[in-house]
Amino acid sequence: MNFFDLSGQIALVTGGNSGIGLAFARGLVKAGASVAIWGRDEQKNADALQNIQALGGNAQAFVCDVTKEEQIQSAFDATVAHFGKVDACFANAGGSGKQGLLHKQTTADWNAILDLNLNSVVHTYRPVIAHLIARKAPGKLIVTSSTAAVMGMGYAAGYGTTKAAVLGLTRALAIELGRNNIQVNAVLPGYIETEMSINTPQAFRDAALRRTASGVFGTLEQMEGVAVFLASKSSDFMTGQSIILDGGHSISPM
Ligand code: NDP
Repeated sequence: MNFFDLSGQIALVTGGNSGIGLAFARGLVKAGASVAIWGRDEQKNADALQNIQALGGNAQAFVCDVTKEEQIQSAFDATVAHFGKVDACFANAGGSGKQGLLHKQTTADWNAILDLNLNSVVHTYRPVIAHLIARKAPGKLIVTSSTAAVMGMGYAAGYGTTKAAVLGLTRALAIELGRNNIQVNAVLPGYIETEMSINTPQAFRDAALRRTASGVFGTLEQMEGVAVFLASKSSDFMTGQSIILDGGHSISPM
């Protein structure tokens, strides 16, 4: 038996049209899954779809802004109408929000990052959980957190707060859903060059690299396997956990 085989599985990846989400989607189709990618930008969705289909994968893209609960419900309904079911959900869409000192930010800035990185995960998970329980089916819920959840990240309090909050959500849901054979876990990437991170100031990147044990930043290809593991039978006895992929950045004191 191949414990990493995802044939017949349907995985949903929010933010699947770019960066880490697209890497997850690529890994999943390589392991045999069919993949639904959600994103706001139709052109990025179409390009990502081509990218995934070039691997011989079965995929479909759905336009969805995950900060809008009603769009999530419609995208989820459309996903199930297209594929017939969902087995694994990667709540990956997110962003860095406004940088800067917390006391200089507005309540609107704060609420925006909560909507994008925390409330979006709750709103995405809800219909997936209801769907899995109604089908009496096992399932996998995976959120993209960040090493910012476990390291202090000045000038990005909203980002660090939301990425830590989803770890609490992960543990709570792992307990709520354990008896339903639904596993809930989190991935915490370190610095990976993507559209989101490309504008990180050079001084921050240099400092981060100095204290990264591997001496190099991560690549998108290195994100593919963890998605397969967390969507597959191999992770059936793992729930409520966080996997850090950061080349040793977060364990290094200097
Ligand atoms: P990208 O900018 O490449 O990808 C972000 C993805 O999220 C895009 O697909 C984007 O699609 C989607 N997205 C953004 N806002 C929304 C929204 N409101 N509704 C729906 N989709 C949205 O960045 P990354 O791949 O780096 O980011 C993916 C996740 O990884 C994020 O949660 C990020 O916090 C996390 N992360 C990234 C790290 C890094 O170093 N890159 C490190 C640790 C965590 P579209 O624009 O079409 O909506």
